[in-house]
Amino acid sequence: MNDQELESEIQRVGLALSRAFPSRRGHPIRALDERAMEIASQDAELRAALFRFVDVVPACRSTDDLASHLTGFLEEIHDQPPSLSAAMRLGNTKAGRAALGAAGAAGVRHMAHRFIVGSDPRAALPTLRGLWRDGIASSVDLLGEATVTAAEADRYAERCVAALDTLAPAYAAMAPDERLECDGCGPLPRANLSVKVSALTPLLRPQAPDRGKRDAAPRLRELLRRAASVGAHLHIDMESLDSREAVLELVLELLSEPELATGPSAGIVLQAYLRDSPDTLDRVLAWAQDTPREAPLVVRLVKGAYWDHEVVEALQHGWSVPVFERKADCDANFERLTRRLLEARPLLRVAIASHNLRSVSHAIACNRLLGGADCDLELQVLRGLGDDLGHALATGGLRVRAYCPVGDLVAGMAYLVRRLLENTANESFLADQAHGVAIEQLLAPPA
Ligand SMILES: Cc1cc2nc3c(=O)[nH]c(=O)nc-3n(C[C@H](O)[C@H](O)[C@H](O)COP(=O)(O)OP(=O)(O)OC[C@H]3O[C@@H](n4cnc5c(N)ncnc54)[C@H](O)[C@@H]3O)c2cc1C
Repeated sequence: MNDQELESEIQRVGLALSRAFPSRRGHPIRALDERAMEIASQDAELRAALFRFVDVVPACRSTDDLASHLTGFLEEIHDQPPSLSAAMRLGNTKAGRAALGAAGAAGVRHMAHRFIVGSDPRAALPTLRGLWRDGIASSVDLLGEATVTAAEADRYAERCVAALDTLAPAYAAMAPDERLECDGCGPLPRANLSVKVSALTPLLRPQAPDRGKRDAAPRLRELLRRAASVGAHLHIDMESLDSREAVLELVLELLSEPELATGPSAGIVLQAYLRDSPDTLDRVLAWAQDTPREAPLVVRLVKGAYWDHEVVEALQHGWSVPVFERKADCDANFERLTRRLLEARPLLRVAIASHNLRSVSHAIACNRLLGGADCDLELQVLRGLGDDLGHALATGGLRVRAYCPVGDLVAGMAYLVRRLLENTANESFLADQAHGVAIEQLLAPPA
């Protein structure tokens, strides 16, 4: 394939997808949410105030309490829009405070439900069934608070086992959907759980990676065994760089154990914002070459969710910054890694996780021009952020999986704030899209 061929296929795919986005007119509440996010993205002070408010909601005991926090945070904004000044006048009376607090709490709960599909896996089943009916598979993620004791790590592992036991029979009872259930390598498990190693051990520290690995290994091994026995897929998320080596080594070592060679289907995450991600891919490919598995390892390619953290951490310590500092460099690396992953099949299975129409269209176009079938490429979106893209992809006959966090509002707060930040950041495709940037610009090659 030459560059020109690829570029014109990307544009064709991208335009077709953008036309298939669901109309906003049918979803007044979602349109309102997006309007709120758009306002927040344009005002740094309002953004900071709202994030601090979202953070304290779970700890508030009454609507009065909530309202005083809300007005307190909003008072810090210098140029208040008229609607904010009106809201703050409400906070001067007891009845007004109750109304304002209730509205604030309802707003946060509403926003959280956009991203979190249920308080536990059983409560999430109606949403997961609805997605499957719409031609969208899922990966369930159990939200949890930071794991600081062995008992908490045990509890998280138990919740994961219970989730596998709930999801596997529930998915088995769903109607067949050939597109979601097999690719060129064979059958794909219906039930799919994403887990975090930092929740499986309190000892994951950059200074002593082996200790964290050793402590997490028995819990992760048990989960892999359980996933194999119920026929589910287990995906291990990637977190900040200080745990990357431990996570990668742990997963590849466990999957090399003879008892796990025949299953389960399992996966890891590659972060394209890391400058050394091409070397990490070399290591993963060498491992896959040497370690035949019945179900090939799934590699989920993402850009990376800890960009600000990695930059600040490096600057604080006087280290060189491990992530790309120009967004276009990160996006271009994402495209190069996409192509390398697609070319490595059937050694690996490939999942491209992005809400960026350009990155996703590139993956689809590249796969087709390499002679791949659409079913040999999985596209992943986050519930709440990538719903429109997910539906447009599914309508276009592509294989889509939505990453669906499950948990209560308290556990979900950190997740919610991270997603809101992502949605309102300056250098984000979704923010550009919300600000009405022209489709030609959204689909332009990273430069
Ligand atoms: C299904 C799914 C699963 C995910 N799992 C994980 C996971 O396990 N681990 C993880 O870390 N992330 C994960 N993510 C999040 C992902 O890494 C991104 O944060 C998110 O998808 C935004 O990237 P984008 O391509 O959708 O959007 P875009 O708007 O195209 O990209 C935004 C991303 O670009 C990068 N970026 C922003 N500014 C700059 C800059 N100045 N210079 C260089 N790079 C910059 C950041 O990574 C930022 O998140 C997942 C995402 C999805 C959809």
